[in-house]
Amino acid sequence: MEDKRLQENKKLRERLDKLLNEARRNEKTQTSFDDFALSIVAAQGPAELFQLLLEQKKKFHIDKIRICLIDRYHEIERLLTNNYQDSYPGLSFIDVETSKKLISDLPNNPVLGTRIVNKYDWLINIDESNEYKSAALLPLKRGSKIIGIQLLLSKDATRYDKSDGTTFLHKLAAMIAISIENCINRQRILDMGYHDGLTNAYNRRYFDERLKNEVDRCVRNKTDLVCLFIDVDFFKRVNDVHGHQVGDAVLVRLVTLMQDLVRSSDVVARYGGEEFTVILPDTGIQLAREVAERIRSQVAKQALIIDGDTLSITVSIGLASLSQIKFQKADAKNKSLQNNTDDLDQLLLSKADEALYQAKQTGRNQVVIKKMVN
Ligand code: GH3
Ligand code: MG
Ligand code: MG
Repeated sequence: MEDKRLQENKKLRERLDKLLNEARRNEKTQTSFDDFALSIVAAQGPAELFQLLLEQKKKFHIDKIRICLIDRYHEIERLLTNNYQDSYPGLSFIDVETSKKLISDLPNNPVLGTRIVNKYDWLINIDESNEYKSAALLPLKRGSKIIGIQLLLSKDATRYDKSDGTTFLHKLAAMIAISIENCINRQRILDMGYHDGLTNAYNRRYFDERLKNEVDRCVRNKTDLVCLFIDVDFFKRVNDVHGHQVGDAVLVRLVTLMQDLVRSSDVVARYGGEEFTVILPDTGIQLAREVAERIRSQVAKQALIIDGDTLSITVSIGLASLSQIKFQKADAKNKSLQNNTDDLDQLLLSKADEALYQAKQTGRNQVVIKKMVN
C-alpha cells in the first residue's frame, strides 16, 4: 500500500517536473520572442532592421531565412538599399508586373511542411535548394495586404510540419510586417528631405553627403569618378522674357532630360538656382565627356514649348575627375592619397566649378574639362 502511494507520488512528481520544464521552455521562447519583437520595432534604419531579421536564425535556430518584399512601383528597393548602394543577402524584391503569378500564389496565412521548399524554390539559390528539407512560409501582411513574405528554412525535414500550430508564426509575421512598414515609411520621409521641391532632383544636402560617400567608395575600389557642374546659360533672360513660371518649367524639363541621359546609379542634383551637379561614379573621363556632351547637345537641340512659348536654352558644363585630382595631389605632396580622402570631394567639386567658369568665360554652350596644372 505504502509502496503504491510512493510510486504514484513519484509519477506525479515526474509529470509535474515535465510540465514545469515545458513551461520554462515556453517562457524562454516567449521572452526571446518579446526581446526580438522589441528590437525589430526599435531598429534604426534598414541596415539594422535587416541585420536583425536575417540574423534571427541564430536566436531561433533556423538554418536559412529569406525575405522577399513586393515592390509595386520600384520604389521600396531604392529606399531600403540607399539608392542601390547597400544590399542585404537574403532580401529580395519582386514587382507586380513581372511576377503576377508568383504573387497570386502567396498564401494568406503561414504554411509549413516539406513541400514548401520546392514550391517556393525561386526564393532560394538553385545550388542550395537541395540542402533544405522543410520550411515555413509567412506572409507579411498589413491589414489584408501582403507586403512581402518570409521563408524560414530547415535542413531537418521534421522541423516544420504541416500539422504544427501557427499562432507563434502569425505573431512573428505581424511584428516583422509592422517593422518593415515603419522602416519604409521612415525612409520615405528621409527621402523627401533629400529632394528639391520644384524639380524633384536631389538637393544640395543629399549631393554633398553622397559625393563624399561615392568619392570614398571609388578611392577604396580604385575606380574613377566624375563630377559635372552644369549651369543654364542666360537664364535670367528666360525669366525676364517669358516670366518666372516658364523659368520654373524649364528647370523641371531640364532635370527630366538629364535624368533620362544618365544611368540610374548616377546622381542628378540641383545645387542651387539654375545650377545642377551630376555624380558619375565608376566612370572615367572619356565616358563622362561623352555623357556631358550628350546632355549639352540634347538640351540645345530641344526646343521647349511651354505654355505656347517656344524657347531654346543651352547649358555650360564643367567636368572634373577624381583620377586627375588624385594625380595632382599625389604629385604635389609626393605621396599616395589612399589615406587622405578627407577633402577630395570638395576639391573635385571646386575643380568642376572652375571648369564651368572657364566654359562661361569662353563662349558658353560647351563642355570644359578641368586641366590640372601643377
Ligand atoms: P550665365 O549664362 O552667366 O549663367 O547667366 P544667367 O542669366 O544664367 O546667370 P545669373 O546668375 O545672372 O542668373 C541666374 C538666374 O536664375 C537668376 C535667378 O532669378 C534665376 N533663378 C534661380 N532660381 C530660380 C528658380 O527656381 N526659378 C526661376 N524661374 N528662376 C530662377
Ligand atoms: Mg546661368
Ligand atoms: Mg548660375
